[in-house]
Amino acid sequence: MPTLQQPLMIVTDLDGSLLDHHSYSWDPAEEWLEQLQQHQIPLVICSSKTAAEILPLQKKLGITGAPFIAENGALIQLDPSERIRLPADSADYETLCHRLSLLQSRYRFTGFHNFTDREVSAMTGLSEADAALSRQRDASEVLVWRDSEEAFASFHSELTQHNLTLTQGGRFWHVMPAGSGKGEALRWLLSQQSGEPRVTIGLGDGPNDAPMLDAVDYAVVIKGYSKTPVRLTRQDLKHIYHTAHYGPEGWCEGLDYFLT
Ligand SMILES: [Mg+2]
Repeated sequence: MPTLQQPLMIVTDLDGSLLDHHSYSWDPAEEWLEQLQQHQIPLVICSSKTAAEILPLQKKLGITGAPFIAENGALIQLDPSERIRLPADSADYETLCHRLSLLQSRYRFTGFHNFTDREVSAMTGLSEADAALSRQRDASEVLVWRDSEEAFASFHSELTQHNLTLTQGGRFWHVMPAGSGKGEALRWLLSQQSGEPRVTIGLGDGPNDAPMLDAVDYAVVIKGYSKTPVRLTRQDLKHIYHTAHYGPEGWCEGLDYFLT
């Protein structure tokens, strides 16, 4: 089991994990956040949220300047002066939206770039100001699918031809560059770290967290609301813990399990 005395890194999903799925509160995790800070353990956010959403959140959590993974792994900020899209040759957001708009003549779906801040606010429960931040995207698009399952399959295969892929989040579908994801992003981020390698503990509640939870040393699968189960490929069951609680309560439960 890992201990607080060794070099650790905590990698966490936000919605439904550190943040409550409904209220977006992290109150139950306050005590743990303080402990991590006391022991100078980096907390790396690994989220479907945008960089514009993560930066103010980092400030509130007291972890300004820490590296983070945004947009489900399509965007990484190593330090405040260096932000990259992954894979490095992937299209920017404008190009991605243009490609999607061409597909909208044959498939019924709506992207975040088609919605207003108010509409996104109504769908997510975010304030309009926060909804605006969620629409400031760099590398991936969020979709509401309004067509049949059959059409979805053919849409998916067309995306593949454009070097794009689909990931399911807690609420929406995310169109991402092929070869990107939370697992790939975390592996890349870890490869950039200098000094003694850190033991990683990952926490997540959704199917999109599975690749990240497969890439860490210890995985906390937080009880979630998604109909799709979180399927890990790793076989070291002693390094996997499934929580009984949802959201930040489950987040604490996971850290309690591996660290105390
Ligand atoms: Mg989540």
